[in-house]
Amino acid sequence: MLEKTGVPDADQIKKITPSPGRLKKGPVAVVECFQSIPCDPCRYACRQEAIKEFKDINDLPVIDHDLCNGCGSCISKCPGLAIFVIDDTYSEKEGLVKLPYEYLPLPRPEEEENGIDTEGWEVCSARVVKVQNAKVLDRTPVVWLTVPREHLMKVRNFLRKGGA
Ligand code: SF4
Ligand code: SF4
Repeated sequence: MLEKTGVPDADQIKKITPSPGRLKKGPVAVVECFQSIPCDPCRYACRQEAIKEFKDINDLPVIDHDLCNGCGSCISKCPGLAIFVIDDTYSEKEGLVKLPYEYLPLPRPEEEENGIDTEGWEVCSARVVKVQNAKVLDRTPVVWLTVPREHLMKVRNFLRKGGA
């Protein structure tokens, strides 16, 4: 499926999903990088060394979720926009997804958007909590969205409800 559509299948997603026990501890990175390409900036973005050393630049990244503290520093460093941070402890009903977003105009906090999956299908309503766009992010802003907790591993982008 991935080779034809660019969309990972359920087994691929299962393999990179943090364990229920790790999710209970707070924010954690999810690395949705499934194709072997010469790329490794994620490795050097992580001060916790949660993303393991590559033996070869074509290796797929391997993350130790127990070492990851969910800081999000790796999100904007990934040229493939393949890294997200999810927080299943955000509130009783809502989880937080931090995602890279390279479209303009940027959304504003409190806006309601349509959360979409990797295929572009609408999943749920999503509320913008914060937009990070500091110079250090090098023009890959990071948008924080709240979504129903059951959709934390589904929402990977959003469509502006205002159509922008
Ligand atoms: S979120 Fe922070 S600690 Fe986790 S892998 Fe990314 S840079 Fe490392
Ligand atoms: S930086 Fe992104 S695209 Fe490159 S290897 Fe890491 S996760 Fe994959």
